[in-house]
Amino acid sequence: MQSGQVKPDLVSSVEAFALSIPRDTALYGGFKARDGESVNKNGYFIRPENRTVYPDRDRSIVIKITTEAGLVGWGETYGIVAPGATLAIINELLVDFVIGRDPLNREAIHESLYDMQRVRGYNGGYYLDALAGIDIALWDLAGKISGCSVAQLLGGSRRDTVPAYISGLPKQTLAERAEYAREWQAKGFNHFKFAAPLASEGVVEEIKTLRAALGKKAKIACDLLWAYEAHESISLIEQMNQYDLWFAEAPVPSEDLEGLSHVSSRTSVPIAVGEEWRTVYDATLRINKRACRIVQPEMGHTGITQFMRIARYSGANHLEVLPHATIGLGIFMAASLQASVASQNCVRHEYQHQVFNKNLRYIKTTMACENGEYTLPTGPGLGIEVDEQAIKPFIEQS
Ligand code: MG
Repeated sequence: MQSGQVKPDLVSSVEAFALSIPRDTALYGGFKARDGESVNKNGYFIRPENRTVYPDRDRSIVIKITTEAGLVGWGETYGIVAPGATLAIINELLVDFVIGRDPLNREAIHESLYDMQRVRGYNGGYYLDALAGIDIALWDLAGKISGCSVAQLLGGSRRDTVPAYISGLPKQTLAERAEYAREWQAKGFNHFKFAAPLASEGVVEEIKTLRAALGKKAKIACDLLWAYEAHESISLIEQMNQYDLWFAEAPVPSEDLEGLSHVSSRTSVPIAVGEEWRTVYDATLRINKRACRIVQPEMGHTGITQFMRIARYSGANHLEVLPHATIGLGIFMAASLQASVASQNCVRHEYQHQVFNKNLRYIKTTMACENGEYTLPTGPGLGIEVDEQAIKPFIEQS
């Protein structure tokens, strides 16, 4: 340390735990099974339309990093399936390489943790989820140490609020879904996305009915959930676009880069992808092929460091960013909003209305989503504090 420098406040402990919060409303994306889907003994079921496993409850992994001076930084990462795998990576490996480090060096720490497992091919999946949670907590601490919001640390806020879009219309019939969308429209929201597997009368009928209910000015997107072959998805997208499709999300399996590029080149409808990515390297593979026009990073997979690298690479390629929002307490939603306002090309954020509002009770924050837009959390760092008493009953015991 040179003379005149402030003594660094180093990390003294890293704690990670999984939360399991019951839910009673079926929703696409991973919660309670619908009729005909059987939940196994560990609470998982497979949704046949996209062959994906989901839990029957809200699950998340929360990370608490404490410094020698007693500051606490909060992180959160994706933990809806087999969260024990991510916890093991954090507790058995990463903790010892984070303790003693200076949170102000958060990007350097992220890079060193990433480098540790490169040669083994652990450059995605659970390993990067673990890094994401630690990264968010370190950015929260860096903000608290310096007295700045994370957005300020990232170069400054471009806006005071973040426009939101309604994600998912969890009702049984198309008529009910159209009515439900109209209820949100009356509350000031005019951007919507429906999930293809839940379009009980087909995606074309779905958008036709929603368009009639919501009017010309509403924006309506469709999430195809990686379930279609390229030519099939092109045909569906073109048919939906008779009713003015805002964007088509995840049209082909995520590993089919050529197919994605083919779909994108054959339709004027913007193709959106990115929720399963972990790093900017996932982004460059698609963006360099011009395989998408909208990029959807998920903070629970990327952390702040990789989210910003993805957003900036997207911006350098003149693409819009519309971040994904998954299941959680709202810690990574706070991080995602901080990163969103710090990204010039982030135009709108997904709003998982059933998750966000329900789980806000477990954190202390001014963050909200009303009248079509998110209000940013205030205060240093992420602008949230976890209510440790409130979450105690939901901590999973291993
Ligand atoms: Mg999606």
